Amino acid sequence: MKMGQQLYDEIHSSNEYEIVSKIENPKVYDYIENIKQTILANGSFRYKDKFEWKITVLNDDNTINAFCAPGGYIFIYTGILKYLDNEAELAGVLAHEMGHAERRHGTRQMTKTYGIKMLLDFIFRGENSQYFKQVIGGLLSLRYSRAYEREADECSVNYLCNTSYQSDGAAGFFEKIMKEDGARSEELLSTHPDPAERINNFHSLKEELNCRGAQNFAECYRAIKKLKIR
Ligand SMILES: [Zn+2]
Repeated sequence: MKMGQQLYDEIHSSNEYEIVSKIENPKVYDYIENIKQTILANGSFRYKDKFEWKITVLNDDNTINAFCAPGGYIFIYTGILKYLDNEAELAGVLAHEMGHAERRHGTRQMTKTYGIKMLLDFIFRGENSQYFKQVIGGLLSLRYSRAYEREADECSVNYLCNTSYQSDGAAGFFEKIMKEDGARSEELLSTHPDPAERINNFHSLKEELNCRGAQNFAECYRAIKKLKIR
């Protein structure tokens, strides 16, 4: 939690990131906040009340990504908000990222990469830690193992299963990636591997769990996409 909080503070105080203001863009934040609450309400979160689950929208249309740091600090780029076509897809992506935090994938991966000593130094000494930049960099460029990705994909369907959303919403994101070609496809595939296999898994898990949700709220999503970010 402390690790995520330090990343949150760093992103919010650094000039490298342009934060979409919550005060000036309440509709965008309220919209994502509602989706987040629906995901958290599914009943299986161990850290629902313990983690922060704080949303930050980052203004960068070229980055088609979202991530959730340890402790539930959620970051969503405007690039992915504009890339997706409906609310169920966004819910799927968010649920996937929240799954990484809930299952403590980031914490485990960071411990494996940097070791507990270095992380404790970072946690207790913050900006005074000689490892500060290195650990922040590590958190920002975190790559999960295939096993963790699979688990987060399963979380995504699970968390959405008892909602009105199509619980395989995240599949839409990967279907879109598969339709890309050229340089953009390569770039997207480097951060989102195995799209075909993952699409199948989303669909088959939805079947298996007999999820009934059928909505994607494409209309609402289009309205949100039309809002000008200030
Ligand atoms: Zn992931």
